[in-house]
Amino acid sequence: SQAPVTVLGLGAMGRALALAFLAAGQPTTVWNRTAAKAQDLTAHGAVAAGSVAEAVTANQIVVVCLLDYGTVRETLEPVAAELRGRTVVNLTNGTPAQADEMAAWITGLGAEYLDGGIMAIPATVATPEAFVLYSGPESVFQEHRAALEAPAAAKYLGEDFGLASLYDLALLSGHMQMLDGFLHGAAMATSREGGTATGYAELLVSWLKSMIAVIPAIAADIDADRKSGTPPQIAQGLDVQLAGVGNILTASREAGVDTAPLDPYMAGVEGLAAAGQDLWSGPARVRQLKGE
Ligand code: NDP
Repeated sequence: SQAPVTVLGLGAMGRALALAFLAAGQPTTVWNRTAAKAQDLTAHGAVAAGSVAEAVTANQIVVVCLLDYGTVRETLEPVAAELRGRTVVNLTNGTPAQADEMAAWITGLGAEYLDGGIMAIPATVATPEAFVLYSGPESVFQEHRAALEAPAAAKYLGEDFGLASLYDLALLSGHMQMLDGFLHGAAMATSREGGTATGYAELLVSWLKSMIAVIPAIAADIDADRKSGTPPQIAQGLDVQLAGVGNILTASREAGVDTAPLDPYMAGVEGLAAAGQDLWSGPARVRQLKGE
C-alpha cells in the first residue's frame, strides 16, 4: 500500500514506525513535541509538520504513539475539530478502560478509532516476528489494514475497543512472569561453581519449547470449562505439584536464592489443595485467579 500516514510521536517506537512506513514507500508526515526528532526524519523522506494541526490535517490516517493516554488526550484536544472524518490509530500502551474512554471521545468527534497494542520493540519493527494487535470496528480495520502493515503484521481481535489493550497487557504479563522465572532459575543454576547461566539457558529453551507446545491444549481446556464445564484434558495431581514446587523452594533456600518469584505459584497450588481439589489444571487455576 502507498497510503499516506501521519505519525504523532517520535520516541523510540514512533521513530521506528515512521521509518517502516517510509521504507515501504508510504508518504509520511510526522510530528513530535521535541521538533528536532521530526527534522531528523526528513532525511529519510518524511514531511515534518510544524504543528499537531498541520500533521493531523495532512492525512486520513493518524497513527499515535506517545508516552501514555493522558499525553494522547492532551496532544489531540486542541485539534479535536480537525479530527472529524479521519481515522485515529492509537498504538500507545494503556489499559482497556483507557481505550474505551479514548474511543468514546474520538468517535464522539465524528472520527473513526482503532486501538492497538504493539508486540515488538523498536529493533524488531518491520521484521517477520513483529505484530500489532487491533480492536475497533472491523470495517475500519479492513479499510486501513494494508496501510498499517508496514511496521508489523496486523492481528485483529474484535469490535470491543478494549481487547487490543487487554491482550497486549496479558501477553506482557505471561512474558514477564516467564522472564522472571528464567532469571530465578539462572540464580539457582549459578549457585554452584559448576553451573552456568549459558548452559542452563540452552536446556531451558529446549524444555520451554516442549512445554509451550502444550499451551494451546491448556487454553482449549480453559475455554471448554467456561463454555460447558467440560473437564480438562491436561491435569496433574496436586500432591505431585505440591511436592515438586516444595523441592524447588527448598533447593532455592539451601542455595541462598530468594523464592519470591515462585511463592505466588506455591500459594496458588496450596490454595487449590485447601479448597479440596485434587488436580492441578489450567481451568482450576484460572477460576482461582478470577475468584470464582
Ligand atoms: P519514548 O520515551 O522513547 O517516547 C515518548 C514519546 O512521547 C516521545 O515522542 C515524547 O516526546 C512523547 N511525549 C511524552 N510526553 C509528552 C507530552 N506531555 N506531550 C507530547 N508528547 C509527549 O517512548 P517509546 O517511543 O518507547 O514508547 C511510546 C509508546 O510505545 C509507549 O506507550 C510504549 O509503551 C509503547 N511501546 C514501546 C515499546 C518499546 O520497546 N519502546 C514496545 C511496545 C510499545 P519528546 O520526544 O518531545 O519527549
